[in-house]
Amino acid sequence: MKILVISDIHGNYLALEAVLADAGTYDAVWCLGDLVGYGPQPNECVERIRGMSNLICLLGNHDAASLGGLDLEDFNNEAMQSVQWMMDHLSEENKAYLGNLPEKYHYNAFTLVHGSPRYPIWEYILNTEDARRNFPFFTTRYCLVGHSHVPCLFQQRKKGDPVHMEIPQTGIPVQLKPRSIINPGSVGQPRDHNPGACYATLDLEQYIWELHRVSYNYQQVQKLIVEAGLPIRNAARLEGGW
Ligand code: ZN
Repeated sequence: MKILVISDIHGNYLALEAVLADAGTYDAVWCLGDLVGYGPQPNECVERIRGMSNLICLLGNHDAASLGGLDLEDFNNEAMQSVQWMMDHLSEENKAYLGNLPEKYHYNAFTLVHGSPRYPIWEYILNTEDARRNFPFFTTRYCLVGHSHVPCLFQQRKKGDPVHMEIPQTGIPVQLKPRSIINPGSVGQPRDHNPGACYATLDLEQYIWELHRVSYNYQQVQKLIVEAGLPIRNAARLEGGW
C-alpha cells in the first residue's frame, strides 16, 4: 500500500497540483495539516484535499487560526496578516471542514500530528533535543509530523537512547526503523532553501520512506500573492525556500 504523505500546503495550489501529478498512483493520502495560511488559493487547496478518497487529514496551526477566536501572539507579523486574510477569504464550508479536522490520528504503527505528539498543533520539532522530549508522548513505532517545513527523520532505538537526526535525500528510499519521528517537508512553502515542492511516499508494508521534490511555477504563485494583497514576504520566501 503506497501512501502519499503531504504537509504544509499553505494555500499554494500550484505546488499541490504539481505534487499530485508527480506522485502518480497511490492508495491513500495522509495530509499533516496547514492547508491554508500564507498562500493565495486556500479555498482551492481545501476543496482539492476534501475531495480525495482514502484521506486522513490533520489540523494545523494555521488551519486552526483561520477559523478565528485564537490569540495570535505566537504568529509573526506576516503570518498574522495572512491569518486575517484567510479569515476574510475562506468560504464558510471550507472553514467548517477545517474545524472538524482531528489534532491527532493513529493508523497501525503510525501516529499522525501536525506539530508534535506532545503539543499536536503548536510545537516545532527542529532538532534532536525537541525530538528527544517528544518520544515519550506517542506509543506507536512511528510518528509523522509537519509544521517545521523541513524534511527530516529522527530516530531513537530505545527509551533513553540518544536521538539521531538524518535528512533523507530526494529519491533515495529509506528503511524506517523503530522508533522514528519523520517529517515529509512542505508542499507549499519549503524552508530548506530549495524552492521545489516537497512530499514523501510511504510503503506501508515495508516501512520504506522516500522523499520527493518537484519544481513548479512559483513565479505564478508569487504574482497571485501580490495580487491578493497578501504580505510581499510570503512571495519572496517561495523563491529562496525559507
Ligand atoms: Zn506550516
